[in-house]
Parts: sequence; structure tokens; C-alpha cells
Amino acid sequence: MGIATINPATGETIKTFEPLTAEEIETKLALAQARFQEYRKTSFSQRSQWMYKAAEILERDQVELGKIMTLEMGKPLKSAIAEAQKCALVCRYYGDNAEEFLKDLPGSTDASQSFVRYQPMGIILAVMPWNFPLWQVFRFAAPALMAGNVGILKHASNVPQSALKIEEIFTEAGFPEGVFQTFLIGASQVESIINDDRVKAATLTGSEFAGASLAAAAGKQIKKTVLELGGSDPFIVLESADLELAATTAVTARMLNNGQSCIAAKRFIVLESIAAQFEKLLVEKFKALKVGDPMDESIDIGPLATPDILDDIDKQVQKSVAMGAKVLIGGKALEGAGNFYLPTILTDIPPNSPADKEEFFGPVASLFRVKNLDEAIDLANSTCFGLGASGWTNNPDEQDRLINEIEAGAVFINGMVKSDPRLPFGGTKRSGYGRELGIYGIQEFVNIKTVWIK
Ligand code: NAP
Repeated sequence: MGIATINPATGETIKTFEPLTAEEIETKLALAQARFQEYRKTSFSQRSQWMYKAAEILERDQVELGKIMTLEMGKPLKSAIAEAQKCALVCRYYGDNAEEFLKDLPGSTDASQSFVRYQPMGIILAVMPWNFPLWQVFRFAAPALMAGNVGILKHASNVPQSALKIEEIFTEAGFPEGVFQTFLIGASQVESIINDDRVKAATLTGSEFAGASLAAAAGKQIKKTVLELGGSDPFIVLESADLELAATTAVTARMLNNGQSCIAAKRFIVLESIAAQFEKLLVEKFKALKVGDPMDESIDIGPLATPDILDDIDKQVQKSVAMGAKVLIGGKALEGAGNFYLPTILTDIPPNSPADKEEFFGPVASLFRVKNLDEAIDLANSTCFGLGASGWTNNPDEQDRLINEIEAGAVFINGMVKSDPRLPFGGTKRSGYGRELGIYGIQEFVNIKTVWIK
């Protein structure tokens, strides 16, 4: 597939784009490098003014931006608009806090004065996925630019109009030309950019395959990477939980973004004593979901982003069923145009089936029953992923065990896993490494320079 906007609700190709040539890439890299030398000397207060302006533009254009995202990747329009609003939040957060996060950090040593100074690295490459076309980029760009770096974006090939819009927002906000540039290129053109001496580091949000490939290329050049990869987050429901609230949240947590979120709850692990009741609630709530045109404000679930994703999820479901899983609801694609899949619940999940071990990037929930908390924790930790986890219990000892024993970058108790500019976000195991957001996010792409004065 080339670089194109293809409406996932209809299959219609709306617009195609030519990838940049080697000469065009060179011109853009030269501009980014030249601009970095000046931009790094701008003050935090100047950068904040530009970042606040970007936030205003995001809010002003939220509906237009939402429509572009929905058209390109099929998320319900209301959540696309909310995504544009959330991008404004992250711009303001780093506009407010970057200077404090990166101020000199004094140390007490044998020197008359010693401290740490945080300095920008230069050109940072961001390789981003289509699932949150604006948010994934802004959560990288707001801290990177506030730290004095310049950014280049290789966005997913199915969201080119979103990608171009992001560059326009930063330019209109007043950032000097070249501080943030979108490169419309295919995945095969990424390695040569990483190999370029002017590019100092890279971040990738996406699949394990793409992450491993980018990190291998960067590793050969001794360049730092941050990887935000897949997940198969557990959602653990224990006896003392508020079952109605847990079931309602379970649906939101699974169906976020038509089921295509790295931190969506994917495996529902429920104590046997309450499992029948929880299952009944979940089935009822799945039945009530409206699938259809994502531009229609009343629908809950739109199409999957591409025909390949639809195909992949159906294969995973069918294989799990062939191995013995039971379909409680859904279990197939909707007939007709568009990449629609029915909200699906699988139970009696056989060990080592796709529903047990793989990431399901679509509206499919896997329901497991366990005898006790030990079994719940073992099952939660039994995949190669470690992104987020949600635990439902009002017992403080159980809460403590979940917080301590779940292998994940985040544990949320009595709530769904979500990202928040004020808290770090990232994974363990094959979900990746490094952190975005919070103070940790802005300290990923800086040179932590030690200064010692006799
Ligand atoms: P993907 O196929 O890995 O694509 C992500 C980005 O990587 C796209 O820009 C893609 O470009 C590029 N890419 C693909 N192969 C590459 C390669 N060999 N070298 C360099 N770049 C390459 O992932 P996706 O299917 O779009 O996204 C779904 C995955 O992302 C899921 O596993 C999901 O869990 C994960 N994700 C993780 C997070 C997180 O924060 N941890 C957030 C969102 C999504 P093309 O489009 O041109 O192929």
C-alpha cells in the first residue's frame, strides 16, 4: 500500500501521495540541521509562547482535525475531536513545565560547584502509528520541541493528511520553519534517515516488528531509541469490586478507538465466584453497542483502519475458536463495504491460543476465569507484553499485590488505563522501553551533561 487516504468506512481511495525523493529528503534534513543551531538558543519562554499558540490552534480547529482523523482511520468523530483537545493539553503541560523539568540540577561533590545541565540533542526522528494520528505525535513533539530539539515525523502511510496538518499547526503557531517537519515516506526509507549523522535519536510507536527493525538500525549507529509497542493488557476483576462499574469500564476500555489501542484492556481475568455475573453484564453491554459510520455522532464503534487489520483479527478469532474457544457474541466481520468487525467476546480460552497470548487489535474481548488472586496475577503476567494493567478490588492488600506483582509499565486500580500528560507512559517486556510524558518524557531526548568546576 502506498501513501494514501482511504476511507475505512467505505474502502474509497480519497487521495494518494508520492513519497519524498532522496533529494527532497536531503533538503529537509539540511533545513532541520541548520534550524537546530538557532532554535536551541531560543528561550523556554519563547518556546512556551509558540506551544501555547499550537494549543489554541488545536482547540480552534478541533472539528476539522477530528474529521480528517475519522476519514483516514475510522475512529468515531466524537473521540477524534476529544483527541485534538487532548493534544492541546499536552502542549500546555510542557509549555508550563519544561523549564522547571530541565533546570540545572545541583550536586554536592568535591568541586566548588557541580551540577547537571540538560541540553537538546538535535534532530529527533519520530515514526508514528495511525491509531491516534494526532496524539501520538503531539506527545512526542511537545516535550521534544520544548527541550530545544527539532523533530521530523514519518507517520503511518494511511494518515498522510493528518501528518501534513501537524506540520501546519506548528508552523502557524510560530515555530521557525524546519523545527517540525513531516516527511511523507514509506517504511523502507526510514533506515537511511537513521543512518544520517545529523539525526541523533529516534522514537517509534507501533508494532514489535517495526520497533525491532528501527532499534536494530539505530543500534548499528549507536543512537538512542524509545519504543512504545504493543500490549495485551489484563483487566482483573476480584470479589470486592463494584461489578456494574467494572463491566461498564471494561466495555469502554476494550472498545476505545474501535478496539485499536495499545492500552486497551484485552484480557478480562475474573474470579470464578463472580464470573457468571460479570459475563452476563459484559454480554449485555456489548450487545448494546452501535457499529456504523464513524462520522455519525451516535455510533460507538467504527470500522477498523485497514482491510489487513480486519483480516488479521478475524484470523486470530477463527484460530482461537478452532482451538476450542467459545464465542459469546459476535465473532465475525460485518458484510458489505468497510472494515467493520462485530463486537466479540471469547471465553473458554485454550492455553497458547491467539486469544491467550497475542495482541488483538480490534473489538474482541477474551474472558478468563481464575480461582484466586495468585492465578489472576500469573495469568496477567503470562504474555510477552507489559504495557498497562487494570485491577478491580476494594481490598487494600489485594491492591498492593497487584501494584507490586503485575509486570507492566502502569497499574490502574478501579479505573481504566489511560495516558495523562502529568504521568509517565511506557512499557516493559516486549511492549518497549523508555517513557513518554511527565518529567521522564522530556528527559529522554536530552544530553544529561555533568558539569564540574574546581
Ligand atoms: P506498525 O505497522 O508498526 O506501524 C507503525 C509505524 O512504523 C508506521 O509509521 C509504519 O510505517 C512504520 N514502520 C513499519 N514497519 C517499519 C520498519 N520496518 N521500519 C521502520 N518503520 C516501520 O504499527 P501499526 O499497525 O500502525 O500500529 C499498531 C501497533 O502499534 C500495535 O501493536 C499497537 O499496540 C502499537 N501501539 C503502541 C502504542 C504505545 O504507546 N505503546 C501506541 C499505539 C500503538 P508504514 O505505515 O509506512 O508501514
